[in-house]
Amino acid sequence: MSINKNYKNWPDNKGYFGKFGGRYVAETLMPLILEVEKNYNKLKGNKSFIKEFNYYAENYIGRPSPLYFAERITKDLNGPKIYFKRDELNHTGAHKINNCLGQILLAKKMKKKRIIAETGAGQHGVAVATVCALFNLPCIVYMGEKDIERQSPNVFRMKLLGAEVRSVNSGSKSLKDAMNEALRDWVTNVKDTFYIIGTVAGPHPYPSMVRDFQSIIGKEVRKQILKAEKRLPDILIACIGGGSNALGLFYEFLNEKRIKMIAVEAAGYGINTNKHAASLSGGRAGILHGNKTYLLQSKSGQIKEAHSISAGLDYPGIGPEHSFLFENKRIKYVSATDKEALDAFKYCSKLEGIIPALEPSHALAYLIKIAPKLKKDKIVVMNMCGRGDKDIFTVAEKLNVKINE
Ligand SMILES: *Cc1c(COP(=O)(O)O)cnc(C)c1O
Repeated sequence: MSINKNYKNWPDNKGYFGKFGGRYVAETLMPLILEVEKNYNKLKGNKSFIKEFNYYAENYIGRPSPLYFAERITKDLNGPKIYFKRDELNHTGAHKINNCLGQILLAKKMKKKRIIAETGAGQHGVAVATVCALFNLPCIVYMGEKDIERQSPNVFRMKLLGAEVRSVNSGSKSLKDAMNEALRDWVTNVKDTFYIIGTVAGPHPYPSMVRDFQSIIGKEVRKQILKAEKRLPDILIACIGGGSNALGLFYEFLNEKRIKMIAVEAAGYGINTNKHAASLSGGRAGILHGNKTYLLQSKSGQIKEAHSISAGLDYPGIGPEHSFLFENKRIKYVSATDKEALDAFKYCSKLEGIIPALEPSHALAYLIKIAPKLKKDKIVVMNMCGRGDKDIFTVAEKLNVKINE
């Protein structure tokens, strides 16, 4: 059976991207998820909903983010023309806010009175707490006990923003346990609660809904690159945790066969070690967080903890649409190690005066490797999806530098 190669038409009406995705949830959750789907379908093409989203995107987040020609890096690598899509300039410092804005507007339209979320590194928690403050909705963020210790600045930020951070001490006391706890909360508070998921994962319709909200990135890139270069780019490149910033950039261009797309997973200490976060390069299909996708798991099917120098990439799964695009070879999935990301972090800071987050440093690390082999008339767009302020303590430690916390 040949698959539908109009990639922009997926998922099917049951939420499947080929054999991935779907809705693997308890019966008790089904009515809630169907309600989200029904309302999202009703609103996504609605003019006043889009207008409201665009209003806050512009005035609160600061969109459109610039498309910047990275002149010095381009010169230094002596390869293709490199552009950065500067989503690190968004309010709160990354792309995550685009999606949180969309989902909270939906929650408001659904007259929900209470927002829940889960977070690992705390970046999504901060973005959710931010939009909850903006729209005056109570916010509860589930976070593993271990992550609360590791990510104290983000815990403090969430509290300043008025959120309640609930410590989860079951299982491995980290992200996947926090996800389970959030789902449990949702089932117990059926009527008034909206669950904001932070990446292109979860049960249908979340993967495609999050993608749609993030696709503003690629839509802006199309306009901006046509203005700057009078043509579309040859290569798009982005890092992958769950996969939302990558799909945000890629989705607009999925049917442009000429455009190559490269997604960079976190290889941690190396794909051949046990310490990485590369679900596609080093995992296999299974079920997590309500959908079927590639996962890091043991032989017996236990979810393995992911490792990466960048907390935002250490998710043991990947959005189901990526598993689909991987198996159909529409996107090339590669990886970069902690060490390579750290080098790219330093390189970009010095050459461009942009301190990147450790997450997009993985995309840059791979780009640094391939750029010298690419033709000079090629155009590359990389998603600079987050800024590195949050990472300076991690980087200082790796470099054996003592700074006051
Ligand atoms: C959370 C985060 C990521 C990983 O999430 P995706 O859904 O893969 O985009 C990547 N970069 C930054 C800056 C993040 O905060």
